[in-house]
Amino acid sequence: MTNEIDVKLKDALAQDLQKGVPILLKDGFHEADSLKEGSILKLQNPAGKFVGKGYVGMQNKGIGWLLSKNENEKIDTSFFQKKIATAIKNREDYYNSNDTTAFRIFNGEGDGIGGLTIDYFDGFYLISWYSEGIYSFKEMILEALEASVSYKGIYEKKRFDTKGQYVEDDDFVRGECGEFPLIVKENGLNFAIYLNDGAMVGVFLDQRDVRKKIRDAYSKGKTVLNTFSYTGAFSVFAVAGGAKKTTSVDLAKRSLSKTTEQFEVNGIDVEKQDIIVMDVFDYFKYAKRKELAFDVVILDPPSFARSKKYTFSSAKDYTNLLKDAIAITEKNGVIVASTNNATFGMKKFQTFVEKAFKESNRKYTIEEEFSLPSDFRTSSLFKEGNYLKVLFIRIK
Ligand code: SAH
Repeated sequence: MTNEIDVKLKDALAQDLQKGVPILLKDGFHEADSLKEGSILKLQNPAGKFVGKGYVGMQNKGIGWLLSKNENEKIDTSFFQKKIATAIKNREDYYNSNDTTAFRIFNGEGDGIGGLTIDYFDGFYLISWYSEGIYSFKEMILEALEASVSYKGIYEKKRFDTKGQYVEDDDFVRGECGEFPLIVKENGLNFAIYLNDGAMVGVFLDQRDVRKKIRDAYSKGKTVLNTFSYTGAFSVFAVAGGAKKTTSVDLAKRSLSKTTEQFEVNGIDVEKQDIIVMDVFDYFKYAKRKELAFDVVILDPPSFARSKKYTFSSAKDYTNLLKDAIAITEKNGVIVASTNNATFGMKKFQTFVEKAFKESNRKYTIEEEFSLPSDFRTSSLFKEGNYLKVLFIRIK
């Protein structure tokens, strides 16, 4: 049984927690540095009144998360089991779907436990631990998960600093070992997934609705440029939607074989698609020089990227990225602009769009707006958790 430690907070944080804000921000504590990963805290306001129970888990955003507002609630296996059972109940439609077999069953603070996510991949579960603190509850959480679902195997990702241990780990936890690639379905298409091969598994599940929209309404007969393409998931959906041709551009060497594989597992003729291993910013220059223009241009950069020649920060440089894209998009074409940067919201993102079009002397309308899909549940009291912003922008 974990010891509980009484901690008096500064008033502002105590008030936030009372409202249900889930994050424990460092500056709400008097002596945050003495706290230990995995400790359960009984949090009090300056007058000593109980406001909630939380755990210590250092992440960039904070030093832990609120778990319960009930003073008598024990943080044990049955606590985790209740949270997981509720989360699963909220995903019944996903479990019952025949054409989608990969989705998120537990999304951190959105499901009541910050720092923990669990994804489902056709019978396999992938647990991501975002701090040493949450990892210290591993046995209880595994027990809770095993009591809630039947499964083929469980894998994990430690998304915190393990001082180099990570590389030796193949991330297998228990059950049956998967045979990779594992082929999962998303809205009827296939994805090749590797749960045992580093931090990224082959697809970002949070873009599911965007991929579907691209396939169903924006691809037929179109030329599609997919930048920062990773394994080409957007390109696969564009081809399935009848794209004339896709061009996938990513700097990482692995993107060529990974994208080829995603096309192949969908029976798509790779020879008819372009997969280019190149810095996107060089590609924009090349495309401009060659006077290329695409009907649809997809922009899905990481929040920060540093290549040999360029540094990109989505908070600072998204306007310029859009200007590069505008220059090589056909008249009446569409730019799909995406960002996962949690430090700004949709309003600010739209100002980047406004500025880019103004400076390019072009007009536009926004046709679609996406945020996280419903399996990525968020807390309305923690806006940063709702990080995804996607706009479909039509160029006039
Ligand atoms: N759009 C992808 C996910 C992008 S992940 C999808 O839907 O699956 C970010 C990708 O950007 C990584 O694959 C990384 O290799 C690539 N990347 C980062 N900086 C880049 C640059 N300057 N030029 C090209 N690709 C870059």
